[in-house]
Amino acid sequence: MGEPHQGLRYMFHMMNHARIGVGAGATAVGYTGYLKSLAYARERLQGRPLGAKDPAQPQVPIIEHTDVRRMLLAQKSYVEGALALVLYCARLADEEVSGEPEAARRAHLLLDVLTPIVKSWPSQWCLEANSLAIQVHGGYGYTREYDVEQHYRDNRLNAIHEGTHGIQALDLLGRKAVLDHGARLSLLVETARAAVDDSTETEYAGLLSAALDRMTEATAAAWSDGDPAAALANATPYLEAVGHVVVAWMWLEQLTAAHGKEGAFYEGKRAAAAYFFRHELPRTEAWFRLVASRDRTVLDTSPDVL
Ligand SMILES: Cc1cc2nc3c(=O)[nH]c(=O)nc-3n(C[C@H](O)[C@H](O)[C@H](O)COP(=O)(O)OP(=O)(O)OC[C@H]3O[C@@H](n4cnc5c(N)ncnc54)[C@H](O)[C@@H]3O)c2cc1C
Repeated sequence: MGEPHQGLRYMFHMMNHARIGVGAGATAVGYTGYLKSLAYARERLQGRPLGAKDPAQPQVPIIEHTDVRRMLLAQKSYVEGALALVLYCARLADEEVSGEPEAARRAHLLLDVLTPIVKSWPSQWCLEANSLAIQVHGGYGYTREYDVEQHYRDNRLNAIHEGTHGIQALDLLGRKAVLDHGARLSLLVETARAAVDDSTETEYAGLLSAALDRMTEATAAAWSDGDPAAALANATPYLEAVGHVVVAWMWLEQLTAAHGKEGAFYEGKRAAAAYFFRHELPRTEAWFRLVASRDRTVLDTSPDVL
């Protein structure tokens, strides 16, 4: 197939598209678990509202309990955030071959930096969604009577194949974020900033803008002493943090599309976005702090003491 001596290049071309496919698969399995746990939470009767003392009072569907809604909202924010990211990357993959030259060039660079993220973020967080789907089912979730445990096991593969999670992290911080003096990451920041500028959601746009600044600062700090061992010791927290920032951007785009629209679908989008910005995005600070300080906890731990 193709020209002689180009095999490795062709293989990586195939592989990069396959990585969007891995993210899409992880998203689909996560989404399925979400929908099944949502249906279960609407029909399973257990417990009474807070403060209801009368044992004769009927029990309520578990979706009435705040903690169950938290687990559903978390799942929705992961799976719909991941879906937006996968679709965005699929669009970039089209644009890099069919767009006008300048648009195609930008799409190529953006996709290059987003590839480790579109592969890894859904694999990590849609798996977490599957774990929450089991939790919503309580004891039944752990059994094979319900198939949410099967979804968790199936999704567990996605952080392993097509380049493990740890290898994607090294690719992101060790190559994609710094290649050509950080041109790819700068383009990502510039593109996300355009979404910030277009947004009417001042609270969330402000949070995303601050997170983009922190990402740029932490990337520079990671490499500030030029010691790859110290920088890359925190490559995985970096992948988690950048992934969360990118998915926050995807949520801001969805909010812009939902602006002024009414109905449960759009209200659901606003609720999931609020969850992501208020409960998830703040986690990035802890990850970026490790990266920026070139934390040596892991690096300095001798294999002999483990
Ligand atoms: C169900 C399934 C289907 C698969 N399908 C295919 C397929 O169709 N085609 C195919 O070619 N392969 C396939 N694979 C193989 C898959 O790609 C590998 O399992 C995967 O790349 C990890 O390699 P490994 O199993 O040798 O683990 P190892 O390379 O031994 O990795 C073990 C751990 O060490 C870490 N690690 C290893 N090296 C480094 C390093 N240099 N720096 C930091 N951390 C490191 C890894 O991140 C991982 O956490 C499949 C695997 C499974 C489970």
